[in-house]
Amino acid sequence: MNDEKKILIKKLQTAADVSQFMADYYHGLDQASKAGNPKIAWCTSVGPAEILRAMGFLVYFPETHSAMLGTTRMAADLIPEANALGYSPEICSYLTADIGAFLRGVTPLTKVYKIDSIPKPDVLVFNTNQCRDVQDWFNWYGTKFKAPVIGIYTHRNIGDLTEAHITSVAKQMEALLEPLGKISGKTFDMAELKRVVKLSRDCSDIWKKILDTASAVPSPLTFYDGTTIMGPAVVGRGSQSALDVYQKVLAELEDRIRNREGAVNDEHYRIYWDGMPIWGRLSVHAKLFAGLNANVLASTYCNSWIFSALDPDDPFNSMARAYTELFIVRSDQAKEEYIKNMLDFFKVDGIVYHDSKTCPNNTNCRYGMPQRLEKITGIPSLTIHGDLNDLRLVSDEQTKTKVEAFIEQLEERR
Ligand code: SF4
Repeated sequence: MNDEKKILIKKLQTAADVSQFMADYYHGLDQASKAGNPKIAWCTSVGPAEILRAMGFLVYFPETHSAMLGTTRMAADLIPEANALGYSPEICSYLTADIGAFLRGVTPLTKVYKIDSIPKPDVLVFNTNQCRDVQDWFNWYGTKFKAPVIGIYTHRNIGDLTEAHITSVAKQMEALLEPLGKISGKTFDMAELKRVVKLSRDCSDIWKKILDTASAVPSPLTFYDGTTIMGPAVVGRGSQSALDVYQKVLAELEDRIRNREGAVNDEHYRIYWDGMPIWGRLSVHAKLFAGLNANVLASTYCNSWIFSALDPDDPFNSMARAYTELFIVRSDQAKEEYIKNMLDFFKVDGIVYHDSKTCPNNTNCRYGMPQRLEKITGIPSLTIHGDLNDLRLVSDEQTKTKVEAFIEQLEERR
């Protein structure tokens, strides 16, 4: 039997609807950028998108653009451009690849959507809940485009969330309204914010339902599907169109569950992924695991766009809670508790930790977490060394050897 026959991954038909959603999204931004209307706000991926939408901005997310630099394998070639400006090869390779692309005058939007350049910002709005790198990244572009950069500073390594955390972030969110109003020329309308928060909460709920389908045996979904269909949850939260496309995706996954159709042929091993994806290797890794009858079916990463705390009746406090209780913001103890629950829920046999060289913020295996979790749960783990975008830091041979040995180890435990 040749490899093509052995490796069977069932493609999601509705991924095409998600691709169309993303095409419409980028074309909308391109038109607005050329026309100068509506105004455009750049936002970090877990930044205050609801406020920006409610104030009338179209919202652009540079991280999603930089992930495209990863999936199109353009990133490694562009990173040295940013290094030459003093942005170290050791820092976030989303930042360095994205700035490198701008300096080189290229974007994957050209090949994929026939769009010449990224949209110009009227304002850049960050939240440091995920890392400091986003602030540095936005400041660089703010200077380049002579656009204001404003943001929210969030506490990090939080164990239990307290009222003090929530109040601090909620007040910073409210303080954004005045500068945003001056830039957009719009007056803040609470009813509009409540409407957007409701849509965002609905998007989060349906995204959660989609990801939760992976708890079925066999799982109808893989982590690699998740990374390719997550666009609407990131860039479209707060819009009706994101909800519409996710209704279709969910219906397809529910059909699969009814028919007991797994995403991976003959699923024997169920794997959980922690940390960033390796964007330039999604397909290679999907095939590697599927070829060993293993399904990497859930992750801390895709679940990071679930914001169950959002409440349209209390927009500011609930946004503050939703964007502060995120996995990436929390202490190791809180993260371990979360992962332990997920291992149960998704009926997981093993965990893969991605030690992503340029993203210590979303790498969780450097301070003993794998060992502590294995002691509590008995579930073994594997650490893969690599990077989200810089493929010079990825060894395909080493990854393959490690994954094969890990699956053998899982087999021996049965
Ligand atoms: S969380 Fe990691 S990948 Fe994301 S912007 Fe920050 S450093 Fe970069």
